[in-house]
Amino acid sequence: MTTTKDASVIAQELKSASRTLFLTGAGISADSGLPVYRGQGGLYNSGVTDEGIPFEVALSEKTLREKPNVIWNFLQKIESANRNASPSLAHRILADFQHELPGYSLLVTQNVDGLHGKAGSRDVLELHGNLYRIRCDHCEWKTSIKNYDELDKIKICPECNFLTRPDVVLFGELLPFDKIDRLMEESENGFDIGFAIGTTGSFHYIKRPFEIIKENGGLVVEINPCDTDISHMADYKIKSTASEGLEVIRKYFDNKK
Ligand SMILES: [Zn+2]
Repeated sequence: MTTTKDASVIAQELKSASRTLFLTGAGISADSGLPVYRGQGGLYNSGVTDEGIPFEVALSEKTLREKPNVIWNFLQKIESANRNASPSLAHRILADFQHELPGYSLLVTQNVDGLHGKAGSRDVLELHGNLYRIRCDHCEWKTSIKNYDELDKIKICPECNFLTRPDVVLFGELLPFDKIDRLMEESENGFDIGFAIGTTGSFHYIKRPFEIIKENGGLVVEINPCDTDISHMADYKIKSTASEGLEVIRKYFDNKK
């Protein structure tokens, strides 16, 4: 846990920032009781499914083409674990910050669980997609669903009869260029302060925005119980869960409005 002096300084910097970056990873959803996902797809990257299929294979672009039911069955299990999860305190505090900050803020997440949206955040840049969006790769059709009970009706595209797919980045697939481009462009435009929350920062596109913030003289704040690839850049490191860390900052944020 950080000192109260640090939390007070962070809160002041946050309030006076013209541009703020919040970037979240699996750690923020761990507070909601969800397993800590890792990997490029924002899903599991080790272990095997109940059928004995390695996660990387079950959630790959190749499996989607060749055995779509394997992907749907596995995602259905993830979704059912996800379905009753509520946004954590950390998700809610970030939504509050976004509404209350006088300056501009960008919220970016590696998670596919949609919990930032449930907490009331708008315009979330979901780098790895969202489990609750379904799309067709053959045409432009897409839709959002509340849960996977609705899935059977839309496994075939109503526009072109092609197989639909979850709008998440699978293993073997490229990240969506438009989202990465926006993150990099916004970073080049400058952030006064950037928060890395519950992410290991192992990927270049997660680390790079914080490097740019440092290069431009901005502040980096990390909230994570573990040391990560971002820790060495952090001006302030809060060694705690996402909810605990943000709660301390909010206390000072609210106190001295
Ligand atoms: Zn279609």
